[in-house]
Amino acid sequence: ARVFNFSAGPATLPQSVLERARDEMLEWNGVGASIVELSHRGPEFMEVAARAEADLRALLSIPDDYAVLFLAGGATTAQALIALNFAQPGQPADYVVSGHWGKTAIKQVAPYVDARIAATSEDNGFHDVPPPSTWTLTPDAAYVHYTANETIHGVEYREVPRVDGGTLIGDFSSSIASEPLDISRFGLIYAGAQKNLGPVGVTVLIIRRDLLEREGQPRAEILDYRAHVRGESMLNTPPTWNWYLAGLVFRWMLDEGGVEEFARRNGRKAALLYDAIDGSSGFYRNDVAAAARSRMNVPFFLHDEALNAEFLAESKAAGLLALKGHRVLGGMRASIYNAMPEAGVQALVDFMRDFARRRG
Ligand code: PLP
Repeated sequence: ARVFNFSAGPATLPQSVLERARDEMLEWNGVGASIVELSHRGPEFMEVAARAEADLRALLSIPDDYAVLFLAGGATTAQALIALNFAQPGQPADYVVSGHWGKTAIKQVAPYVDARIAATSEDNGFHDVPPPSTWTLTPDAAYVHYTANETIHGVEYREVPRVDGGTLIGDFSSSIASEPLDISRFGLIYAGAQKNLGPVGVTVLIIRRDLLEREGQPRAEILDYRAHVRGESMLNTPPTWNWYLAGLVFRWMLDEGGVEEFARRNGRKAALLYDAIDGSSGFYRNDVAAAARSRMNVPFFLHDEALNAEFLAESKAAGLLALKGHRVLGGMRASIYNAMPEAGVQALVDFMRDFARRRG
């Protein structure tokens, strides 16, 4: 039986998408073969690819002057490539660090750019995000990079930061499509698919086209976003299966009511869970400043860490999977992406209350 899966990624997918994938695995759309077995250059997959892009554009209201890429390599590869593509050798780039993934982004670009920390909340244990008014921006920086939602530390920016005149790049790996977003405020946003968009293996990039005119740094064609845009994400064999499944997830999100509807559901789910933590008389604790609490990833701690193993074993037995916190933070973490139904969060909250009552 399927359980409620709170994994941070790869994460739970909509049941209807998985059922359809199962039904189509041997034979897709009357062609007598699986979509996994078809050439990416054939008319069938070309149509799948075009449909996925059109649906994503509709879902996220992506303006026409932005290119969309579906690439392999994960968000980490994108973190490295943005420097090669959009910064000149030796040019500074500003980085805002509000958690683990902001640090990773700097690590990935360190060989290529002079990465400057414009702001960081590391001193307070990443329990808050540095407000944009405190960011120290470099006048000739190639871009400003920030992480919209920090998957491990459970902090998020609720508003798109203003960087007057600068090029804003956002890592949206764990929050893309969770609410409406004004894409026109960004030079580029990127996201690995494995949280809100589909199975791991495909990474979505949304790039304002004028950025593609930048010279960047010497790089192989396969590392060049201009070439990928020209080649319509098919410079080499793309991850067709993952792309197809992501397309089914886009369609599912549109059919469910789009990002406005998911924003409402995600708001309700997060409120339910944080209320249970805050209302537990200290049995559970979340350390994040209220205004920066992530609506996607909720880390929490038991007042008595000695109960962790029991909490995990009992929650698993109750059909609540993958609540163990990331090794960087310890404790627990519930990831409640778009595909997590409200009933799943309700089941988690019921379990938490019951566990606290029995062990409190
Ligand atoms: N950025 C964020 C916010 C993430 O949560 C992750 C993975 O969890 C990454 C980047 C790295 O993604 P990938 O494993 O696809 O390279």
